[in-house]
Amino acid sequence: MSQRAQANHCPYCGDEDLRPHDARPGTWECRSCQRIFSLTMLGLTNEGGTP
Ligand SMILES: [Zn+2]
Repeated sequence: MSQRAQANHCPYCGDEDLRPHDARPGTWECRSCQRIFSLTMLGLTNEGGTP
């Protein structure tokens, strides 16, 4: 399993043209709308999880 969260779609414009933002680990930049954002895992949910 990968250590880093992989962004597949921009949460703002929905574009798939993302690339890692070099300045900070875990951040992504969207080449479509020019936004820079980060993915942060806040925790785990137990409901509906696989055993
Ligand atoms: Zn975007």
